[in-house]
Amino acid sequence: MSQIMEMLVRRGFIWQSFEIYGGMAGFIDYAPLGNGLRRKIENLWREFFVVNERSVEIDTPTIGIEEVFIASGHAEGFTDVAIECSNCGKVFRADHYVKEKLNLEVDPTVEAVESVIDEFNLKCECGGSFKKPEHFNLMFETIIGPGKGKKGYLRPETAQGIFIAFKRLSDYFRDKLPFGVAQIGRAYRNEISPRQGVIRLREFNQAELEFFCHPNEKKHPSFERYANEVVTLVDKFDKEHRITLREAVERGIIAHELLAYFIGKTREFLLKAGIKDEGLRFRQHKDDERAHYAVDCWDAEVLLSYGWIEVVGIADRSDYDLSRHTQFGREELSIFVPFDEPIKVKKKKIIPNMTKLGPAFRDKAKKIAEELEKLEEAGREIKLVIDGEEVTITSDFFEIKEVEEEVYGERVIPHVIEPSFGLDRITYAVLEHSFETDYVDGEERRVLRLKRYLAPVQVAVLPLLSKEDFVSIAEEIASELRGNGIYTEVDVTGSIGRRYRRFDEIGTPFCITVDHQTFEDDTVTIRDRDTTSQVRVERGRIVETIKSLIFSERDIKEVGQVFRA
Ligand code: AMP
Repeated sequence: MSQIMEMLVRRGFIWQSFEIYGGMAGFIDYAPLGNGLRRKIENLWREFFVVNERSVEIDTPTIGIEEVFIASGHAEGFTDVAIECSNCGKVFRADHYVKEKLNLEVDPTVEAVESVIDEFNLKCECGGSFKKPEHFNLMFETIIGPGKGKKGYLRPETAQGIFIAFKRLSDYFRDKLPFGVAQIGRAYRNEISPRQGVIRLREFNQAELEFFCHPNEKKHPSFERYANEVVTLVDKFDKEHRITLREAVERGIIAHELLAYFIGKTREFLLKAGIKDEGLRFRQHKDDERAHYAVDCWDAEVLLSYGWIEVVGIADRSDYDLSRHTQFGREELSIFVPFDEPIKVKKKKIIPNMTKLGPAFRDKAKKIAEELEKLEEAGREIKLVIDGEEVTITSDFFEIKEVEEEVYGERVIPHVIEPSFGLDRITYAVLEHSFETDYVDGEERRVLRLKRYLAPVQVAVLPLLSKEDFVSIAEEIASELRGNGIYTEVDVTGSIGRRYRRFDEIGTPFCITVDHQTFEDDTVTIRDRDTTSQVRVERGRIVETIKSLIFSERDIKEVGQVFRA
């Protein structure tokens, strides 16, 4: 186990699920500290992608009925190629196995995998031969209700719940584009052989934003905010660029401004969460790598001990999903977009001749006239079905006239740009990027340099001695901090030095110590995790001081009298 994983398990960030039954790959428990950190990252995401966009958040079921995933293409296309050993029975995800053993990229098709196995005589780790490769669908199937019930799937992404509620959502936004809809929640993928610990899970947490826009207006009013940011891009030909987002759009590397905007915003979010810029890049999907729904896609990748790992996918899904649900569902998922000014268009109109239709068709004449008016062109004869009966209308029953009509707008199927975040990978990446060792008083210490506002325990109150008068003041201070929404722990056991180390290791930014002087002048010390500097602050100013420190990057020396530098 790596040094960081050992720490995360020991200190209560992440545990193996089902541990007492031997565990199961692809599932983790969020232990108290990991849960706290993930929730805070989730809230930071909400601030970025819901509160500060024209967006709302919804919450839809994690189980979907079969129809949804037939329409979305997942029932057929959401597969990986699996290879099974005919000797030991182990199953591997083919592209990962080929990469690991041969350092080759193989297309995820049965044919491509088969030919690599033949060409390189690829064997299982046990020496056995592989059976014929097969497509394996990654969705977990389930049956809803008793008996034969109804087939359903655990959702492989949160997005579909948004697409199928589109009609209601566009109503909610009064049919005005662009607008965003977010969802945060569990997603499930029955990964073939998840061997990368916390990176590849079978049940994980996504935060997705579906940003609906007009197909011809893939722009964002706040693009300028990120336009001059220099980012690292790896394009689909594997060429690396250090380039501003504006230039990347101008040179056609990124398809349009809206994608570039979300790349910029994703980067700002990841940096704010504590990812290091030098370990962050955006990689464009190659033409044969893109998901079945995407026309252009960029992954935010973070450099971890596992290599470069995708933590966010930012895709232009075009009108794929809304069109498919229109085709398979019962409603047209489009929006009426009014023109700035009505436009005049010349149209052919079919004018029924009632004086002839009436005597010839009697009680059917009115319905025939209505049907004729709906048509936009006509030959010498028109066949119509009226009350289940076919009737033929010859040209002497109608006239074709050219008319000018005012048109007020058009129906469009919005396109959707989707930044899709894996919260588990981001949480882990933040932990790896924050974990450091340094030397304090000649001794090595492990410190988790989490952003102050994200730390699961923000303040530790430490009575210098475990005597009751020290402890009761510590408890009072802690309860005042908690009353102000600050996550606070009191720790009484062990030497003060050991306690500082304990809280450094879990990323607690500030320790407050109740010491002998507290009884003389009603002050405490506040110690900063990163510099280990300490200041003395009056008890009455603790809450205000801690608040100002947690929500800023201020140096602790600015807030009190330096006690120990
Ligand atoms: P995708 O829909 O495959 O682009 O996934 C969107 C995001 O979800 C990815 O960028 C990952 O961060 C995350 N993700 C996808 N698959 C998994 C998995 N098996 N385990 C954990 N996170 C995942």
